[in-house]
Amino acid sequence: MIIKEVFDMGCDCCCCGDKKVDMCESCGMPMQNAELRGGKQPENKCCVHCCDAEGKLKGKEEVREGMISYYVEHEGKSKEDAETFVDEYMTKMPAWK
Ligand SMILES: [Zn+2]
Repeated sequence: MIIKEVFDMGCDCCCCGDKKVDMCESCGMPMQNAELRGGKQPENKCCVHCCDAEGKLKGKEEVREGMISYYVEHEGKSKEDAETFVDEYMTKMPAWK
């Protein structure tokens, strides 16, 4: 039962569906603690990357640019791929509906 053992390890990555971790409503980043929330406010529904220092959600264009650079730098996507991916991704996020 290798699969069960893997799941029992309690992975806290963004893909395994740990229901206790809130995701940023703008970019989907898991926010394991208040430090990762906008303005470090425990009630904030969006993460530090999507909010300014006061915890206000940044403009859509600014968040979009930030996510595109993230995927280019960290996921090795081309700029075009990242733009397509982010545009599609953002249409599904509660903050941008
Ligand atoms: Zn975010």
